[in-house]
Amino acid sequence: MTELLPNHLAGRWQTGGDPGTPLFDPVLGTELVRVSSTGLDLEAAYAYARDEGGPALRAMTYAQRATLLSSIVEALKANRDRYFDIAQANSGTTRPDSAVDIDGAIFTLGQYARWGASLGDRHWLADGETVPMAKDGSFLSRHVRVPTRGLALFINAFNFPAWGLWEKAAPALLSGVPVVAKPATATAWLTQAMVADVIAAGILPAGALSVVCGGARGLLSPLQPFDVVSFTGSADTAALIRSHDAIVRRSVRVNIEADSLNSALLLPDAQPGSDSFDLLVREVVREMTVKAGQKCTAIRRVFVPASCYAAAGKAIAAKLARITVGNPRNEAVRMGSLASRQQWENVRAGTAALRRHAEVLHDGAAVPLLDADPAVAACIGPTLLGASRREAAGVVHDIEVFGPVATLLPYEGLPDALEQIRLGQGSLVASIYTADAALAGQAALALADSHGRLHVVTPEAAAVHTGHGNVMPMSLHGGPGRAGGGEELGGLRALGFYHRRAAIQGAGAVTDLLDGAAPTWSAPGH
Ligand code: NAP
Repeated sequence: MTELLPNHLAGRWQTGGDPGTPLFDPVLGTELVRVSSTGLDLEAAYAYARDEGGPALRAMTYAQRATLLSSIVEALKANRDRYFDIAQANSGTTRPDSAVDIDGAIFTLGQYARWGASLGDRHWLADGETVPMAKDGSFLSRHVRVPTRGLALFINAFNFPAWGLWEKAAPALLSGVPVVAKPATATAWLTQAMVADVIAAGILPAGALSVVCGGARGLLSPLQPFDVVSFTGSADTAALIRSHDAIVRRSVRVNIEADSLNSALLLPDAQPGSDSFDLLVREVVREMTVKAGQKCTAIRRVFVPASCYAAAGKAIAAKLARITVGNPRNEAVRMGSLASRQQWENVRAGTAALRRHAEVLHDGAAVPLLDADPAVAACIGPTLLGASRREAAGVVHDIEVFGPVATLLPYEGLPDALEQIRLGQGSLVASIYTADAALAGQAALALADSHGRLHVVTPEAAAVHTGHGNVMPMSLHGGPGRAGGGEELGGLRALGFYHRRAAIQGAGAVTDLLDGAAPTWSAPGH
């Protein structure tokens, strides 16, 4: 039997009480390790995090905690090669795709370490200016933000076992809040390995970082009023979490990042042959194929002027035809595997549902695999669909296929494009391709109420833009409506989730003490 990975809870390594759930290599089908959360005392573990980890972290200043993040960066860098091996084995990703997860995690931690240092030797943050309330100005109000006294529970999706942990843990630890991480079972190994390395390096105080791998049963019941939960995953699981008794009755703050039908929009000025047209084609192909389309931010719907529909379909399909798919150990492979055979089944079922309402412009199921057995491997080629008939396209705005699948949609005039994009009911990101900066600004503002991020690609940004689906710590990650309604990252704004805000009202003698004692919330990076 393969190794049963231990969980780190209550300051010690503990194994679950049964043989555990196996984790597989999604390309070879071989068993790698096992995980189990059966029989663990989560109530005691959470109490330990709150009572030991919390006070130890809060005793430090923001600048001191920022140095912890820098030390975590060093510990992860020292073990980086092993993470790539684990990702290749357990997630089936090529080296560049593993880097999106692993190096993305390290970069995000480093960025929060730099921002955190700028907050200095403080224990709390000011929020806005002192405001007089008495007519003569002698009684005032001052808002402050202080770290919450609970723990931060992170329940993550399978697609980013590294970045998914650290993009949440960086602002939480910087805020002084202990972390309990629960990775998705299918790819939990990388998260567990990273936590193990950070624990072994002795960087964090006891109770500051815990990990529990395996089933989610019993995860939410021990939560207390000052705890927070940050969830990334499907809308169905999100609904279960939101309505859980402990969350509802104890007013536990919850952040949800759920599924999303992100869009790419070619504005009417961009015709075939233009730079903007080519930039859209390149970005759509990149988004469909990076991590085999298993990115919450990946482009799922591509909107082009009706006059460009045929040319765009041809251009994207031609590039997709050159994508090699299969075993990521083969250096000729551009696109690796889905994370599991279960996901492979989900992608096939979702694609079949879309195909009933769309034409196939490039068929991924027909792509031969390199070095991979189609009966075993969770590999599948990229599929481009086209829905030129409006009445049939409804399902395209509703079904998220979490894999290398996108649908091309024609529009008649910009208002029609905006209206169709909004049928997605709220998304994480839309990208806009045009040479007309003023029009791009208008389109971005028009879509800002239904998206967390608008990524504008004009020709002058061609070489420098960070990518439609790349989540950078400087910008907000999250989206309204269907996307879950959550907000992560966006500089030091992310610390808000891990702080409580209070107004302190008093005479000048009290509020003067607070003046100048902390950087304000609107300092650089906020
Ligand atoms: P999922 O099935 O919802 O699982 C997400 C996490 O929730 C896993 O850790 C899972 O644990 C856990 N979980 C399952 N049931 C639970 C329960 N009753 N209570 C508490 N936790 C529970 O989602 P997934 O299949 O891993 O991820 C795919 C989805 O995530 C896609 O729809 C994608 O759009 C979305 N996603 C969104 C973002 C974003 O940032 N917006 C990023 C990535 C993915 P187990 O694995 O042990 O079941």
